[in-house]
Amino acid sequence: MEKLKLSEYFSEIYDEGETPKFKVFIDGKWVKTEQKMDLVSPIDGTKIAEVGSVSESDIRKAVDSAVNNKSKIRGMAAIDRLELINRIRLELEQHKEEIVKVLMMESGKAFKSANGELNATIERLRLSMEDSKKITGEYLPGDWSSDTTQKIALVIREPLGVVLGISPFNYPVYTSVAKVMPALLSGNSVILKPPSSDPLAFLMCAEVFRKAGVPPGTLQVLTGSGSLSGDLLTKDEGINMISFTGSTDVGKHIASIAGLKKLHLELGGKGTALIMEDADLDLAAKECVKGSLELAGQRCDAVSRIIALEPIYDAFVKKLEEHMNDYSFGNPMEGDKITMGPVISVKAAERIDKMVKDAVSKGAKLLKGGSHKEAYYEPTLLADVPLDADIANEETFGPVVTVIKAKDKDSAISIANKSKYGLDSAVFTKDFYSAWETMKALQVGNVTLNSAPSHGTAYFPFGGVKDSGAGKEGVGYSIEEMTALKTIILDLSPKNLGKKYFGSFKD
Ligand code: NAP
Ligand code: MG
Repeated sequence: MEKLKLSEYFSEIYDEGETPKFKVFIDGKWVKTEQKMDLVSPIDGTKIAEVGSVSESDIRKAVDSAVNNKSKIRGMAAIDRLELINRIRLELEQHKEEIVKVLMMESGKAFKSANGELNATIERLRLSMEDSKKITGEYLPGDWSSDTTQKIALVIREPLGVVLGISPFNYPVYTSVAKVMPALLSGNSVILKPPSSDPLAFLMCAEVFRKAGVPPGTLQVLTGSGSLSGDLLTKDEGINMISFTGSTDVGKHIASIAGLKKLHLELGGKGTALIMEDADLDLAAKECVKGSLELAGQRCDAVSRIIALEPIYDAFVKKLEEHMNDYSFGNPMEGDKITMGPVISVKAAERIDKMVKDAVSKGAKLLKGGSHKEAYYEPTLLADVPLDADIANEETFGPVVTVIKAKDKDSAISIANKSKYGLDSAVFTKDFYSAWETMKALQVGNVTLNSAPSHGTAYFPFGGVKDSGAGKEGVGYSIEEMTALKTIILDLSPKNLGKKYFGSFKD
C-alpha cells in the first residue's frame, strides 16, 4: 500500500514521519495524545497510521470545553447555524476525492461504496434546511379540562446541552456527520467518538468543520478504544445525551452505565427479505444479492437472511446464483471496476467463516464461496439454512446470501418475527393485500416493498425496535431526539383573561 500523505489543507491534523500520527480535536485545536493506536488497513494488512488514544485528562478537557462553550452555538442565530452547515457542505465537496481515497485505504471499501458514503453525507448536509424546520414549538389553549380553561401553554424545544455521538466502523463518516450536524443545528455542543478501525476520513471532515468556522469548543473529536474512552465518556456527568450507532451488545452496555442521560440507540439488525409466491423473482434476486453483498454485507440494513416460499424456492435460488456474478470482488485500490472489497479485519472474516461453517455442519448447502484469504471473504451463497444455525439468527455483517425455506406466508412472517432484532426488512410480492398484511405484521422499524432496504440520505426516519434500539435518525427526526420539550404555562386567571368555564355535562 502506498504511504498515506494528505494535502496541505489537512496538514494540522497529523504529524508526518515514517508513519503518519493523527491528533485529536479538543477545545478547537488539534492536539497530540500521549498514547497511540495502530491503524491497519484490511486491504493488505499494512499499518497505515497511528491514531490518538485519549487519556482521562484529555477527556476531562474535552467535556469541560463542550460544557463551557455550548452557549456559543446555542446563542448563534439559526440562519447563521444553517449558513455554517452550508459552508461545511461546500468545503467538503471540494475535498471529497481525497477523503474518499483515505476512507478506502482505512476501511477497504470499494470506490463506489466510499464515494457513495461521501455523497450521502454531503446530501445530508444539504437537507439540513429541512432539519432546522423541526426547531419550533406549539401554542396550546387550556381547553381540555376545567382546571386549565384559565391557562395557556407554549411548548418549546430546547437544546439538551452536550451531545456525545459514537459511530460504527461501517459508515464512519456518514453516521458521524449525521450526529454532529443535527446536534449543532439544534444548538448543542457535541463530542464525537469515531470507530477505532477507520476514524481518519472523519478526522478530515472535522478539519473541514473547523475551517468552515465551527465555533471553537462546540465540536470535539476524540479517538481511543471504545471500552476505555467510551466508558469514561458515557458515564461523564457533563454529557446530557448519547447518540450511539453500533452493536446491540455495546448499546446495552452503554444503557447500563449511562445513568439518566437521554439515549438514542441505533443498534444491530437481522434484515430479512420475504419472497412471496407471486414475486418478480428476477427483481427479488437482484435486490437480495445487492442487499447482501453491498459493502461486503457490513450494513445494519443488509439483507442478512432471505425467507423464500416453497413453491418458488428452487427457481429463486437459481436466480440468486446468477446475480451473484453482478459483483466483482478484489482489492479496491485496483480500480473502480471492483465493487466489493475485504471486510474490516481478518478477525471479522474469521467470525463470518465460523458462522458459515456452523450452518454447513447443521445441514445448509454451500452453493458458492465459503472461504477467505486474510480479510477478503468471498461472496457466498448458503441455501436450505436451518433455523438453528447461528447465521439464521445472528447478525452476519459479511457477504453471505443466506436463504431459508418456508412453507407459506404465515410461517415466513412467524420466522421473521422470532428474531430478537427489529431493524429492517423487505417484502417481495405483486399482490397489494399480501404486501400490506405482511408489512403490518413484521415487528421492525422499517420495511421496504420490492427493493432491498436502503436509507440513502435518511430523509425517511430510520431506527429499530426490540434489540435494534430506540429512537429515530433522519433529516428532522434527529433534531427531535437532540432537543427537549419545555412546557411554559401562563395562568391568566388573576385578570380573568382565560376562557370562561360554563360547567360540565352533569349540569
Ligand atoms: P461496535 O463494536 O458496537 O462499535 C461502535 C462504536 O462504539 C465504536 O466507535 C466503538 O469504539 C464504540 N464502543 C465500543 N465499546 C464501547 C463502550 N464500552 N462504550 C462506548 N463506546 C464503545 O460496532 P461496530 O462493530 O463498529 O459496528 C457494527 C455494528 O453497528 C453492527 O451491529 C451494525 O448493525 C451496527 N450499526 C447499526 C446501524 C443502525 O442505524 N441501526 C447503522 C450502522 C451500524 P471502538 O471502535 O474503539 O471499539
Ligand atoms: Mg466493533
